[in-house]
Amino acid sequence: MADDIHKILIIGGGAAGLELATCLGQQLGKPRLAEVTLLDAASTHIWKPLLHEVASGTLAEAEEIEYLSQAYRNHFRFLLGKMEGLDRATQKVIISPIINKKGVELIPRRTFQYDTLVIAVGSVSNTFGIKGVDQYCRFIDTTKEAFRFQKQLVETYYLESYAHQSSQRDKPLSIVIVGAGATGVELSAELREVTKLLATYGLEGSIQVNITIIEAATQLLPALPPRLSTATQEQLVKLGINLKLGRRVTEVTESAVYTHDGEVFDADLKVWAAGIKAPDWMKNLDGLETNHINQLIVDQTLKTSDDNIFAIGDCAACAWTGHTGNVPPRAQAAHQQASTLAKTIINRLNNKPAIPFVYHDYGSLVSLGKFSTVGSLMGSLMGTVSVGGFIAYVVYLSLYKMHQIAIHGYFRTSMLTLSNLFRRSTHAKIKMH
Ligand SMILES: Cc1cc2nc3c(=O)[nH]c(=O)nc-3n(C[C@H](O)[C@H](O)[C@H](O)COP(=O)(O)OP(=O)(O)OC[C@H]3O[C@@H](n4cnc5c(N)ncnc54)[C@H](O)[C@@H]3O)c2cc1C
Repeated sequence: MADDIHKILIIGGGAAGLELATCLGQQLGKPRLAEVTLLDAASTHIWKPLLHEVASGTLAEAEEIEYLSQAYRNHFRFLLGKMEGLDRATQKVIISPIINKKGVELIPRRTFQYDTLVIAVGSVSNTFGIKGVDQYCRFIDTTKEAFRFQKQLVETYYLESYAHQSSQRDKPLSIVIVGAGATGVELSAELREVTKLLATYGLEGSIQVNITIIEAATQLLPALPPRLSTATQEQLVKLGINLKLGRRVTEVTESAVYTHDGEVFDADLKVWAAGIKAPDWMKNLDGLETNHINQLIVDQTLKTSDDNIFAIGDCAACAWTGHTGNVPPRAQAAHQQASTLAKTIINRLNNKPAIPFVYHDYGSLVSLGKFSTVGSLMGSLMGTVSVGGFIAYVVYLSLYKMHQIAIHGYFRTSMLTLSNLFRRSTHAKIKMH
């Protein structure tokens, strides 16, 4: 490719970055109007709202997308690597060395030149510096972490099953999830489903599994209207999930979670899902302005304080027009920002003005496994319309379908959906390895 071609570098191929890279690859990469490169720390993409299903083992492996093949099909370039810094004066991104499991450096620290840079590295769990959380809790922020949790879960179930059968243990297995946002709530329902499936398959035998959610707020799903939060609460109670609301976690140890009121919860497995922040390395990104949770502050055109650098998705703090506060860290916001920024970048190459981003809240839906889905639709557009049951389930799925259509197009998404349906009818509903 010619050296003077405009170089667009996108960091992070998640809900926002992969859609942007695919769109720009098609619109600018294919006709060679720009060189579009996507850098991601992982080699495959799974849509993050599915991670609780990865963690519980109920997700089809087919949902994983290889970045390399996506790049080939859509005329962008994929680079494996982790951004660790930035040199704005020379317009270079600094990429960490790649080191294998044995500690051998495969690729040294490198830099990559850009003309336009888009940072879309998402978010990580916020542990608020609470003692023991980093050491003893599992997180499901990344595909790798979700798979790791799933492996530990399977091992624990096998071990418990053996211990119960050989009368070495008579206590129930206890899983504690900290945080009653969508992630914690969805994960708890999914884990309950897994327990039922295992019993159906005959593994569970006499194991009892206690699932507890601990939340500092007095209602679960604080982002949803109280009526829906109450409906979800009723569903969870029906599923036998213990809810401990209004309890602030003060410490986590290897075997327990402690709360501010002096209660101690025994916990064999602990998951932390209480709030998000942008990764810590973003705090000092060569002078780019950030907020208290490390998000890059962007204006209405999604531009940072540097004219050549944009940020989208969970790692960006963008004021929500007509509301107090920022655009929420959600998949639908990431999707909408990717499509607005694609138009702005195309305009930029044609010396046309940037497009202001306006977030449309179409509501929030929470999936309680195969048991039910609840939520509010239309959000701020039409006021809240509560939905539940099958309609909510279909709408919940459609958010993922929109993401799939953005990266695969209509035809491939239909084929994938069909093949997944066939696959699900012949394969086990849970992954046990
Ligand atoms: C379990 C769970 C359930 C959720 N459910 C919902 C839901 O139902 N509805 C909803 O709207 N939202 C949901 N969310 C939130 C939603 O997933 C996020 O808002 C959305 O994924 C944000 O998109 P993003 O592109 O900003 O980040 P991500 O999708 O997280 O992608 C970030 C990408 O950046 C890469 N990356 C990170 N650091 C680096 C680095 N240093 N260098 C290179 N690459 C890097 C990562 O590998 C990743 O591919 C859920 C989140 C979780 C965890």
